[in-house]
Amino acid sequence: MSERGLLLIVSAPSGTGKTTICRQVLKAFPHLDFSVSYTTRPRRPGEEDGRDYHFISEEEFKTRIERGEFIEWVINYDHYYGTSGKDLEEKLSRGRDVMLDVEFRGAQAIKEHYPDGVFVFILPPDLRELRSRLGKRGFESPEVIERRFNQALDEIKSIFWYDYVIFNDRLDEAVETLKAIYRAEKSRRSRLEARIKDFLTRQGG
Ligand code: ADP
Ligand code: 5GP
Repeated sequence: MSERGLLLIVSAPSGTGKTTICRQVLKAFPHLDFSVSYTTRPRRPGEEDGRDYHFISEEEFKTRIERGEFIEWVINYDHYYGTSGKDLEEKLSRGRDVMLDVEFRGAQAIKEHYPDGVFVFILPPDLRELRSRLGKRGFESPEVIERRFNQALDEIKSIFWYDYVIFNDRLDEAVETLKAIYRAEKSRRSRLEARIKDFLTRQGG
């Protein structure tokens, strides 16, 4: 009998390294799926429609809001972002674990529906490094980078709400820490009730 999947929610200010870390963790765990959000923001170099996001028009996004398709949605940096409730529930009910990359408001909304989700916040080692990494991403103007940096200062205030905090100083360590959190949470007894019961039945216990 399979358990419901585990929900791993990851938030971080832009430029922290979240995309880099999440991609490596996803690659390491075939049982962990990425929740592909819908967005109206333009596709960036290297991004794939359907893998990184479902890139849709504002009109289509609004239609989907009206149909109640999003379990949560926000306007962030002038663009819409949202998570499909149906896609998410379909994966979890099949026992797939799901990683969600959403900002704080989205994370709060998800917690309302999935209180046993695991909420992780990633921080840069310091703000100077954050500014430098924002620049290294290479697809934004200095004005946009400044705006993202200022929003990051605001977003960082939400860290106390999260279950886990990872400092992304050395990339390999940050990746290992997120993997360790996932593994440890998978071993919570409360998540293994069905498997334990099955084990005991088979052993005649
Ligand atoms: P985010 O998704 O949080 O906006 P990215 O994953 O795009 O961030 O990373 C931003 C930039 O910082 C990229 O150029 C990435 O290669 C770099 N980066 C990520 N983690 C580290 C790290 N630990 N040390 C140095 N550079 C890093
Ligand atoms: P980016 O445009 O850099 O990919 O993402 C900008 C911000 O939007 C990030 O903080 C990311 O976590 C957040 N985000 C991406 N998808 C969603 C979503 O579906 N819902 C919410 N609430 N935030 C999202």
